[in-house]
Formats: sequence, C-alpha cells, structure tokens
Amino acid sequence: MRSAVGIDLGGTNIKWGIVAEDGEVLLEGLVPTESERGPDELLNKLSAIAEQAVQSSTDLNIALDSVGIGTAGQVQRASGIVMGATATLPGWAGMPLGERIGRETGLPVVVDNDVNMIAIGEAWIGAGQEWEDFLCVALGTGVGGCWVSDRRVYGGREGYAGEFGHMIVSMGGRECSCGNRGCWESYASVTGLKKLAYEEWTGGPWEEPETLFQYAREGNIRALSIVTQYCEYVAAGLTGLIHIYNPSAIVLGGAIVAGQGTFLLERIQTLLNRQVMPVYQQPEPVAVVAAQLGRHAGVVGAALAALKR
Ligand SMILES: [Zn+2]
Repeated sequence: MRSAVGIDLGGTNIKWGIVAEDGEVLLEGLVPTESERGPDELLNKLSAIAEQAVQSSTDLNIALDSVGIGTAGQVQRASGIVMGATATLPGWAGMPLGERIGRETGLPVVVDNDVNMIAIGEAWIGAGQEWEDFLCVALGTGVGGCWVSDRRVYGGREGYAGEFGHMIVSMGGRECSCGNRGCWESYASVTGLKKLAYEEWTGGPWEEPETLFQYAREGNIRALSIVTQYCEYVAAGLTGLIHIYNPSAIVLGGAIVAGQGTFLLERIQTLLNRQVMPVYQQPEPVAVVAAQLGRHAGVVGAALAALKR
C-alpha cells in the first residue's frame, strides 16, 4: 500500500505522521511550533521533521510516495509558497515551503491551507465520504472553510478560495484579525463565542466554552441565551453559503463542534431548516454533520492530498 508523510502546521504544535492510503496512521509525532523563534527556524524545524519521517520510513521498510503539508494562511498551490499568513505564524508569508521540503526529501510535495487538508481527509475517509459535494467549515480560533466538489477542494485563481470566515456579516461590526470589521469569524469562532459571553454575562464562565455549554445544558437561562445567539451567528453564515454553493452537506469541524456535538448541531440544523429557501433543501435537507477524523484530521488529510495529487 502507498504511504505519504502528512504534516499539520498549527500555531501551537506541528503534528506529523506516516499515513497509508487507507488513512491508517503508521507512525506519528508532535513538536511545538515555537513560531516566535521566526520563520527560518520554523522552516528548519519542518525540514528536520521531513528528514526524520523519511529516515523512519526506511527503518520500518515503508516506501514513501510523497509529502503533504497543511499550514495556516493562504498557499499558492502551483508553487507551494505560503503567500499570506496571520499573526499566528509571524513572518511566514513568502516561505517557499514546497520547494524546500522537496529538495530535502527528494519527494513530491503538496502544500495547502490546513482546513483544505482536513476537508480532503473528511472527503476520502471521514464525514464527507457519502457526498460528492459538501462544504467544510472549521469553527476554531478563526473560521476556515472550503468547498469540496467531486472530492476535490475548489481553489479559485491561485488556491486561496474558501476564506468563508472573512465574509462581512455586520457592517462596522467587531474588529477582525484581517483588518476589516464585522467578518463572520469575529462572531462564529471560539474567540467570537468568548467575546459574546463576556459581553452578555459579566463575571460568567466566558473563559471556557465547555463550562458555558455545561451551564446551557443544565438549563441556565443566560448560558442558553448566549449559546442560542452564537448558533444564530453560525447559522447566518451557513445560510448564505448554502444559497451560494447548493451543497448536499456541511461538515463542521473545530474545537466547539468536537466538544459539543449534537447539542450544537441540532440547534444549527433547526435554524437552517427555517432560514434556507425550500428549494435548496430538496430532495432532502442539507445535512449538518460533525467532522469525524478528530485530532489526526490535518495529518491524514495532508498525506491523502499528497497521495491523491
Ligand atoms: Zn476578517
């Protein structure tokens, strides 16, 4: 069976693994990102990881096909260069990631946005398997996303498509990390939920969304009100996306979905059933489902993207 190295570069940790074509993780590792040490150090660290993976595969007698790397920010697909990066990875924009790792390993390298990689994993072996076309939306520190059509992520002109989080949903609204105001991610991300809780419930449990949801489950009126408002924000963006893409399903990922599952999904589904134009709900309603691949999603997706390139 063919295998590839998958690397998931996040703001806190770099997860990596050797992944077989069927999605099995044969070997895995994790190292801190330490992005504050600068982009050159980070690139050296990724090179070292790739070399280590190649060495391990030789020791284990695994034939490596390629390397897939998912990173935050916007990646130019053709060149494998990270073109845009946020404060999560300072100085990362301009990094010729694909070329450098390709030179170090001698293997073909596929580089893409981290959420795009997660979506590829979900499309092939996760929650998206039964649909040819679906939207993947990750509610994390920010809101990432992509459109999967025929099991491929739509990239747009250069590969930057799918930044759903930066749709402006409130003119003059909250400040966003991108420099604009009123972006959807300022409301629908974990950060947005915390901000809402902070505004609505002085001294409340707004530091930890898990605690807030626990209060809501127990019937606390203020917690329920915050969760309801949060779901309305999430559903508002999804309603627009359904009208734009006409998808069969929405695969929702990210920390809140992983922790709150059906409690959150049922509320969002109810709002969508009410707001989405009936014709978009035919022949059956757009399914809202949780991502399935969990903590391995980024690594598995990156490896599969490389294998399916
Ligand atoms: Zn924005």
